[in-house]
Amino acid sequence: MARYIGSVCRLCRREGGKLYLKGERCFTDKCAVEKRAYPPGQHGQRRTRVSDYGLQLREKQKLRRIYGVMEKQFLDYYKEADRIKGSTGDNLLKLLEGRLDNVVYRMGFGTSRAESRQLLRHNCILVNGKRLNIPSYQVRPSDEITVTESAKEQIRVTAALEAAEQRGVADWLDVDFKAKKGVYRATPDRSELPGEIDESLVIALYSK
Ligand code: SF4
Repeated sequence: MARYIGSVCRLCRREGGKLYLKGERCFTDKCAVEKRAYPPGQHGQRRTRVSDYGLQLREKQKLRRIYGVMEKQFLDYYKEADRIKGSTGDNLLKLLEGRLDNVVYRMGFGTSRAESRQLLRHNCILVNGKRLNIPSYQVRPSDEITVTESAKEQIRVTAALEAAEQRGVADWLDVDFKAKKGVYRATPDRSELPGEIDESLVIALYSK
């Protein structure tokens, strides 16, 4: 599977805001966006006018990078969102939110989506009691996600859960921090999802 292996902080700086790709560091003053809030590269501090197409492209890249999805798979999500009844933009966000690696992250088992993906790849996660190591698996309402017995004592899992417990988890999830398990209660409404994404720009880009 193809994956981005460069500096993830560069991606945040390119998109002009925090995408929270690096776990706990994102909440500290070591965050690269806090220190250098301009795009990376030699001409990063130049003022440039951005076209409509440029805005749409940046929004698509931002969304893709937040969820750690490659170009081809992202296009497949768009096609699926367009096929399903309802608003394509809402559907797209719901499909991305329903990815197993995202749910594992939202439940606080990993400090970032990348770490959650690694937990999955290392067979540390059970879905309804069965081992599942496919990050793109679409979680369904009532699915129960558990950390395996062998992974429950991992320091990174314990630390991630402690941080998540302090910050709180999303309303559409029920998490038992002690038992290291959670339930995906329902698919979130658009109003419950972060507002910093303008999915209409992404839809406009793909509708051309
Ligand atoms: Fe982005 Fe986190 Fe790096 Fe800050 S620390 S630039 S939020 S990945």
